[in-house]
Amino acid sequence: MPIQQLPPHVAAQIAAGEVIERPASVVKELVENSLDASATSIAVSIREGGVAEIGVTDDGCGIAPDELCLAFRHHATSKLATVEDLNTVSTLGFRGEALPSVAAVARVVCTTRPTNTESGARIEFRYGACVGQWHQGCPPGTSVQVADLFGELPARRKFLRSAAAETARIQEVITRYGLAHPEVRFTLSVDGREAISTPGSGRLQDAILSIYGAEVAGRMLPVSLTDGEVAVDGYTGAPDLNRRNRSYTTLLVNRRWVYDRSIYYAIEQAYQGTLPDRRFPFAVINISVPTDQVDVNSHPTKREVRFRDGDRLFSRVQRAVREALIAHAPVRTAARSFAPVDAGPQPPASPETPRLPAINVTLPRTDAIALPRTDGIALPATALAPTEGSFRDVLAGLRVVGQIRQTYIVAEGRSGMYLIDQHAAHECVVFDQIRRRMQGGRRPSQPLLAPLTAELSAAQAVTMDSYADLLADYGFVLDHFGDNAWLVRALPAELAARANPDPAVALSDLLDAVAVEQVVMEREDALAATVACHGSVRAGMTLAPEEMDALLRQLETTENPHNCPHGRPTVIHFSEYQLEREFGRR
Ligand code: ADP
Ligand code: MG
Repeated sequence: MPIQQLPPHVAAQIAAGEVIERPASVVKELVENSLDASATSIAVSIREGGVAEIGVTDDGCGIAPDELCLAFRHHATSKLATVEDLNTVSTLGFRGEALPSVAAVARVVCTTRPTNTESGARIEFRYGACVGQWHQGCPPGTSVQVADLFGELPARRKFLRSAAAETARIQEVITRYGLAHPEVRFTLSVDGREAISTPGSGRLQDAILSIYGAEVAGRMLPVSLTDGEVAVDGYTGAPDLNRRNRSYTTLLVNRRWVYDRSIYYAIEQAYQGTLPDRRFPFAVINISVPTDQVDVNSHPTKREVRFRDGDRLFSRVQRAVREALIAHAPVRTAARSFAPVDAGPQPPASPETPRLPAINVTLPRTDAIALPRTDGIALPATALAPTEGSFRDVLAGLRVVGQIRQTYIVAEGRSGMYLIDQHAAHECVVFDQIRRRMQGGRRPSQPLLAPLTAELSAAQAVTMDSYADLLADYGFVLDHFGDNAWLVRALPAELAARANPDPAVALSDLLDAVAVEQVVMEREDALAATVACHGSVRAGMTLAPEEMDALLRQLETTENPHNCPHGRPTVIHFSEYQLEREFGRR
């Protein structure tokens, strides 16, 4: 074929493919426009997965009739004027590509009226060609109706999935933007049925409640961290509220819904050890950064952004989520940990934690994105506040009753019975001591009367090489003694006190264990966890009442008393309600 320049409408339809991939992309672009127009209410309706019809109506600033035609031209935008403006752009759109792209691949009718004018205007397009423009009376705001998407582009339509699958993607867009903008009232109607409705109260809790329901909302923990110009805020789920994939983690940057692999990872890292394998947290996290610190113009659909200082952001997000978990995560209850994670309706909460009054029988599985949850809306806002007190409060109120199987401590607390895993709890305490000591720079170590030679395996020697500096910080005094042999001159105090009396064996065990831990933990934590584990009270040890009591008091002071460094829970709660129910008293 000879080279020829494509006619403009063919070029436009091809270029539109970059922006408009499927019905959900139309919804995303139109909703972003409504948000940029400062709408307080956005109503979306779709039919047949959005292929037959998509309508987006807002009460935003509207478009002046004499600019309406221009708005549908390529690179026509009111959001920036120069390249430099990209540094400060705070709107979701800025390329001026959405409206022309939608108009190129569907039949489009747009009616609009700016707030300050008497009458509105209407413009119509058919697959790129303008049909006409008229005066039209309409309420202030903008309404865009899109019909027969890809109707003249069978090649594009072929790639769409079933109506149900396309609907799910649209629901996802409304879910994410509903969470991103709690101040806006969103409704989504699917084939005439209301599927999502957010109250627009401005409170993220309310948006979460209306989208995911009370069961989820009641177990979300507030996240809030400000560090210089960066703020991280939102809600993150208690660890038992986990899901099979990442679609329940909503990541927002300056309230723009984005995907960022490394920040997702930061959120998951914060849960380290508290989530079962291949389970993902429930979270809505917004990162506020100065606009010049983030490049929003790096991806065709603006789905990904680039950060100027990604590493620092990573650690801030991780810290923010971790702090939320440590400060607010409730004590794990026996019922919850016994029930399969996705087993539909959960057993009723205890009367001391009345977070789900009377509605739990109707709770559906929340695994599908954005289940319509209108029944949760009537719940009072206090339903979101954990009422059983913080973990530390619970620990402080415990009275030791005894020990069973030389493994578990039995205690009574203000809302039932608590079982404490003595090894996990002590590990937690020792781990904390080690970390604090490292931060304080002190390293009590216990010298050996006579140095001992440790013969290491080749694998252990490799671990030794990468940990030599940290081992020294921890209180090991070691001298390389040719090939894979090392001379042990002193041990960390914790190890000397408890561990295997043979320091060479202790060192070799430690290196083996740290090699395993380092797969899932940072280098520092891997070593601290290993030393903690080796220096801790084992299961199978009889403890005196005072020792048990002391252990609980120490656990109370640790930074993260919920879990041992490997993620096993330290305490399990059997509520009074559960006990009474089991004994048939209720
Ligand atoms: P962009 O959003 O990148 O500017 P669009 O093609 O999406 O480009 O929109 C072009 C222009 O039309 C916008 O800059 C805005 O001025 C106007 N516009 C589009 N949608 C709306 C709306 N819902 N309300 C008010 N103005 C709108
Ligand atoms: Mg736009």
